[in-house]
Amino acid sequence: MNQTLRNVLLFIGALAIVGVILAFVNVDETKTLDLTTLATEIEQGNVKSLIIRGTEVDVILRDDTEAIVKKESGESLSELLNNYGVPSEKIRAIPIEVKEASGASYWARVIIPNLIPFILIFGLIWLFFRQVQGQNKNAMSFGQSKAKEMEKDTKNKETFKDVAGVKEAKEELTEIVEFLKIPAKFVALGAKIPKGVLLMGSPGTGKTLLARAVAGEAGVPFFHMSGSEFVEMLVGVGASRVRDLFDKAKKRAPCIVFIDEIDAVGRQRGSGLGGSHDEREQTLNQILVEMDGFEPNQGIIVMAATNRPDVLDPALLRPGRFDRRVILDLPDINDRESILEIHAKNKPLADGAELRALAERTPGFSGADLANLMNEAAILAARRDKKQIEMTDLLESIEKVMLGPERKGRVLQEDERKITAVHEAGHAIVAHLQKNTDPVRKISIISRGRAAGYTLKMPLLDKMMRRRQEYVEDIAVMLGGFAAEKIFFGDITTGASSDMQQVTNLARQMVTQWGMSETLGPRTYGEKDELIFLGREIHENRNYSEGVASKIDQEIDKLISNGLQKAQEIIQQNKEAVVKVSDELLVKETLEREEFYKVIGVPPANPKNLLSDPGTEERKN
Ligand code: ADP
Ligand code: MG
Ligand code: ZN
Repeated sequence: MNQTLRNVLLFIGALAIVGVILAFVNVDETKTLDLTTLATEIEQGNVKSLIIRGTEVDVILRDDTEAIVKKESGESLSELLNNYGVPSEKIRAIPIEVKEASGASYWARVIIPNLIPFILIFGLIWLFFRQVQGQNKNAMSFGQSKAKEMEKDTKNKETFKDVAGVKEAKEELTEIVEFLKIPAKFVALGAKIPKGVLLMGSPGTGKTLLARAVAGEAGVPFFHMSGSEFVEMLVGVGASRVRDLFDKAKKRAPCIVFIDEIDAVGRQRGSGLGGSHDEREQTLNQILVEMDGFEPNQGIIVMAATNRPDVLDPALLRPGRFDRRVILDLPDINDRESILEIHAKNKPLADGAELRALAERTPGFSGADLANLMNEAAILAARRDKKQIEMTDLLESIEKVMLGPERKGRVLQEDERKITAVHEAGHAIVAHLQKNTDPVRKISIISRGRAAGYTLKMPLLDKMMRRRQEYVEDIAVMLGGFAAEKIFFGDITTGASSDMQQVTNLARQMVTQWGMSETLGPRTYGEKDELIFLGREIHENRNYSEGVASKIDQEIDKLISNGLQKAQEIIQQNKEAVVKVSDELLVKETLEREEFYKVIGVPPANPKNLLSDPGTEERKN
């Protein structure tokens, strides 16, 4: 908008300048006389000489000024002057020169002054349009791919050294690096080099980073493009962008074409709804066509990344396309430590700062979370005017990354604080007094993100599998806040709403996905279907009867009401402990694990939960 306004102003300004120039040109022009005036001038003896050029007569006066007189062609000047009554001898006394009318100087004199304004105006219009076009360059070239090619020789190009953990993935990809470096070795043995590699893993596990590292290791160009970019524009643009991207790549082989977030275009086709959807299919088709179009040994390797491999179109996964798959897992404790080390590289750590301890406390964190954690800690330390990052900064950042920043600004009313304290104490005590739960790590009534308070419960180790009994007890823990509010205040608040959502989801999954209900047995119920344009599961295909549906509901109800009963029992029997913990919370706002254990005075029912180093799982509200 501003830019356009500037251009218009510029244009108007330039026009004004041209106008002024023209005005001066006109003033400078030799003045024109009519014949009558010339006749009088001659009679008065003011004319020095005359030069005739076709229809124009240059008049040079005694005082050496010049003027022009126009006459009709074919008429002789002396006759004309005679007609105007100038005596012949006066005419004869003046030297008259006759010159060719078509002389170059004549044309230059006549035409150039007339051309100047046109040249100026056209020049300006041209400049003006060039400016406008510059602005709309993107619009003019939307068929071109926006693929960003990474510089081959940037100093900070990533290599495998910058990627911690994901050992298996790196091993798989080492092969790809070799393909790119010495393709001849493989071709000599008749091996077909794979065309496509699909990186799969949850968000933030380092898929993009790893793809760049492969290019860095092999020292080849890297064409990067995101699936969502393909879909952002007009119909037909996606496909032509794909074509363009591969054209560019072919010229630079060996190289890597990386399509990030391929699920944005590569979702299963055929469940189409609406026009934008067709666009996506065309784009996907074009990707398939391009991948089939080059020879396996041409030196282009297409890498793609997704965190939703389950929704990809099967055509993408066929042999000859993305038939190599590499899975990136969430980092385990050792990987977490080395990821933290990578991101601590240029950050001065104080003596007590233990990355190992930090890794122990962050199960479930992705690489991106850990990178974020280190950064938050650095910011925190800087804001506290420290020269080094201390352990407290690091620990505080864990919660910031997990739950969002503390909101000390949002002050709870006194009664709200009381309710929140009892609510959180309820969660904590129900967790503390069951045999299969994770240890309570921290309780707080400082609001964070959207939660009024929170109780952090963390597993001791990274867990891949969980048992039914753990979930049953988890349901009780989740309802501990609700139960405590009910018992202590005889009423409930909206503070428990997210707990109830979690409980309902968990119970439903137990029944329908994990076969954890006694009566319904080991099968799954319902197929998730997806409506693509929302990218979310909003519709469930029922593959069971109405009768089963009501049984599912009954089972869910049973799990929840058993959990609530258990929670109420525990709280009824430990009212005093709840009071102690909530009073302490009102004073301190936050209780660490050790403080909580001291206040409650009884050891945890789960012997594994005795004080030792915890891992993490969050429980909000
Ligand atoms: P994804 O593409 O899987 O969502 P990214 O590759 O974009 O994840 O990762 C985001 C950031 O997280 C990276 O730039 C890097 O700083 C950090 N990160 C993720 N995984 C790792 C890892 N394994 N080692 C080091 N840093 C990592
Ligand atoms: Mg990514
Ligand atoms: Zn709660």
